[in-house]
Amino acid sequence: VIYADNAATTRLDTDAFDAMKPYMMEEYGNPSQPYSFGRKAQRAVREARQTIADCINAAPEEIFFTSGGTESDNWAVKCFGDPATDSTNIYTSSIEHHAVLNACKYMQDSHRAKVTYLPVSKDGTVAPEILEKSILADVSGAVAGVKRSLVSVMFANNEIGTIQPIRELAATAHKHGAYFHTDAVQALGHMQVDVQACGIDLLSASAHKFNGPKGIGFLYVRKGIPLCPLHSGGAQEFGKRAGTENVAAIVGMAEALRSNCATLAENETYLRQLETELLEQLRNSGLDFIQNGGPRRTPGNISLSFKNASGEMLLHRLDLKGICVSTGSACDSKNTQISHVLKAIGVPSEYALGTIRISLGKYNTHEEITCIADTITSILST
Ligand code: PLP
Repeated sequence: VIYADNAATTRLDTDAFDAMKPYMMEEYGNPSQPYSFGRKAQRAVREARQTIADCINAAPEEIFFTSGGTESDNWAVKCFGDPATDSTNIYTSSIEHHAVLNACKYMQDSHRAKVTYLPVSKDGTVAPEILEKSILADVSGAVAGVKRSLVSVMFANNEIGTIQPIRELAATAHKHGAYFHTDAVQALGHMQVDVQACGIDLLSASAHKFNGPKGIGFLYVRKGIPLCPLHSGGAQEFGKRAGTENVAAIVGMAEALRSNCATLAENETYLRQLETELLEQLRNSGLDFIQNGGPRRTPGNISLSFKNASGEMLLHRLDLKGICVSTGSACDSKNTQISHVLKAIGVPSEYALGTIRISLGKYNTHEEITCIADTITSILST
């Protein structure tokens, strides 16, 4: 199998797996118990929280463990402020993951939130000026002091890899009294993410996107940000997210993030090399295609639209050769329609249906790149 769908999920790092093992078989105590067996697990959770906080320049008490990106996004959007009494203005982009889009829709339908979907440029970028105009146009926005406002714009897009001007968007939000959330699921562990330098108030992350285990993630919540508990129960996660911690997964996530953050530059250089090789080989083959997303993309994320081709057919024929790619985001893979992201960036219709996303990871090899390019060429040339 040649696995080239690393934006959907990644292989667990061996070191992360080794770090997890003791907490499943030997040190399986409940971290909430006061005896020393429980305290070992408690220490592991505490150290993991510190490691993760260090990776994003946060304080450990600002890290709240969750079950992954979807939960973190839902928590940030649905529990911001006091949803029972506040009415919220939400500004989000038209190319967010459905975890954010559907949480916004829920707030609109059930909590009278006013949601503004910001358009994007042809390469998928949200312009801070457009955000500013939208906030200002909202007479009942945070400026008027009537409602709370939340801006939620993803750090990097999952389908086309475009990296947003996060610092500028956060500054624009703050200038007008709004808080700033970012879904950093595709960015964290692949590029530097510094919540202080970027001015981020809330950040969603998911371990399985950076070689950690599945079903674990976290939400960063800057101290003092108004966020209601996600659910009721015990006092875990500073009383904000009840439920016994998944100790092994938390430890694995911290190790995977630590390791990826320590090798960001070399991983990026390697992935850019692989990207260049793949694109060169495809261009030399004479196929007619366009690459989606702008020049600022997450390393290894290559969205290609082939003229008059079927992305779905290509995906299945590549699968028969043991090559895993995607037609867009994982959640859209059963849907033959053009994804909301491709629509928002205006991919010409003769190319849009012929789109595949190849997302490379640090475990891909030069030989695999040649095989992917040759196989695509032979499928589309016949
Ligand atoms: N946000 C983005 C940008 C994603 O790419 C994904 C996963 O594809 C998610 C959120 C959901 O993350 P999880 O699978 O951990 O729920």
